[in-house]
Amino acid sequence: HINLLFTRSFMIMLLSFIAIQLNLCFSNIPSSLTTINVNGHFSFTNNEFAAKDYGNQYQFLPLAVLHPKSVSDIAKTVRHVWELGPSSELTVAARGHGHSIQGQAQAHHGVVINMESLKSPKMHFHLGDGLPFVDVSGGELWINILHESLKYGLTPKSWTDYLHLSVGGTLSNAGISGQAFRHGPQISNVHQLEVVTGKGEVVTCSEQQNADLFSGVLGGLGQYGIITRAKISLEPASQMVKWIRVVYSDFSTFTRDQEHLISSENTFDYIEGLVLVNRTGVLNNWRSSFNPKYDEQASRFRSEGRTLFCLELAKYFNPDNIVETNEEIESLLSELKYIPSTLFMTQVTYVEFLDRVHTAEIKLQEKGLWDVPHPWLNLLVPRSKIHKFADEVFGNILVDTSNGPVLVYPVNKSKWSNMTSAVLPEEDIFYLVAFLSQANPLSTGKDGLEHILSLNKRILDFCEEAQLGVKQYLAHYATQDEWRAHFGQRWETFQRRKMAYDPLAILAPGHRIFQKGV
Ligand code: FAD
Repeated sequence: HINLLFTRSFMIMLLSFIAIQLNLCFSNIPSSLTTINVNGHFSFTNNEFAAKDYGNQYQFLPLAVLHPKSVSDIAKTVRHVWELGPSSELTVAARGHGHSIQGQAQAHHGVVINMESLKSPKMHFHLGDGLPFVDVSGGELWINILHESLKYGLTPKSWTDYLHLSVGGTLSNAGISGQAFRHGPQISNVHQLEVVTGKGEVVTCSEQQNADLFSGVLGGLGQYGIITRAKISLEPASQMVKWIRVVYSDFSTFTRDQEHLISSENTFDYIEGLVLVNRTGVLNNWRSSFNPKYDEQASRFRSEGRTLFCLELAKYFNPDNIVETNEEIESLLSELKYIPSTLFMTQVTYVEFLDRVHTAEIKLQEKGLWDVPHPWLNLLVPRSKIHKFADEVFGNILVDTSNGPVLVYPVNKSKWSNMTSAVLPEEDIFYLVAFLSQANPLSTGKDGLEHILSLNKRILDFCEEAQLGVKQYLAHYATQDEWRAHFGQRWETFQRRKMAYDPLAILAPGHRIFQKGV
């Protein structure tokens, strides 16, 4: 009995000792961070925003948030963590606009760098000899780049569907939208980067200079460095956009037309597609955003519970060439086999078109529907397997309803560099299939998080079993083995670069690819 009492007291003492040490360890870290001489500042309280993202499923509170004013603030902080060595568990995550889905920009008990407060370099346009480009901070939002570029009559070439995202955030993934078939993703439209590596070094890189780091960082999930600055390619901007939607009831005809359009020289400027799962009267819902002259047409069309496929197209133009633009559109549409009564066309400004999701965001914000869980699933499906994929997924798995938009559109792999870290399917053409679900946080039914996650899992399991060669985009895995399988043959390069640029695995811990100290 005495022995038992002794052991128990000993255990209590030991645990208290460990707790005190841990406490000391954590309380020392903030004080060690305060010794770094930064132009910006660290915050150690009220950091809840850095434990949130658009996905609304993961919440990891950091120990501190750095609000940098200069690149050297970031470099000094990373160098400090590097110098603490492998025994410290401190990690660093750059946070762009926090629109990740699964905690990718979070750092549990680590340091989050609030990239939006980095305002240098001031956006600078290079218009002289050669092709125009803009020099921007890695924390800059694409919407701001759009507005500033238009003052010079210029625009970036490749976009995401939503522009309130940061340069560093999208370049760490790829940045894919309806322009990618022609210009490639955003990572194909960058001339140069400035990066703070996991050792706290500031390195300028491009295809000509430190090319290995440049390629690695593009699509590199923030694993090799923090992008502090980027030179982004520009082209002359148009003022207006003809925005068109046509509907198909047959998936093969829909994809045949999409592939025809992305393979032609003379084509639209933007090509995407949507799956409309079993929604009656869907066309009526579009009336608000489309020309009222289509009202009657819309009211005549009935989807009758069928799954339909909507091709979404845009043609950019300036008012002085409206006649030629209309002729061109007519000619392009005449080659397509959509249901004739489902042609919807409207005309908006270039900014209205590119910033279209923000308009939807404002409406959802008003209804409290923007900050709900978003269990998104994004897949890259090889062209030869898209029909098998669609038969099962749209024919069997997603039959009742979708819990948000489902995008399906092809892109040309030739527009992607095969040197970057982005992981792609093997074929020359592949489809982006995006299940952009939103969950009702109060529901345990078909619109609840659990149900949507189980549908996502069914889709992934099917892709695996049928060996479709599908790759996840904006992927998230729990184990390194799964990441290894995701990268396939590219894993060795990915790992080699990690050892070269962030050997202590300090950066971007939210992806759970490498673990510090392991
Ligand atoms: P964050 O969520 O802040 O960060 C994402 C990752 O990048 C993290 O790992 C973070 O550590 C890292 N990171 C952030 N900044 C830097 C930096 N400066 N240097 C290095 N690493 C950094 N994607 C598309 O491709 N096409 C789309 O059409 C598209 N539409 C979207 C629409 C919405 C409404 C949302 C919410 C997302 C969409 N996305 C799309 C996904 C989006 O591109 C990614 O989630 C992107 O990472 C978000 O950018 P962010 O600035 O919010 O990044």
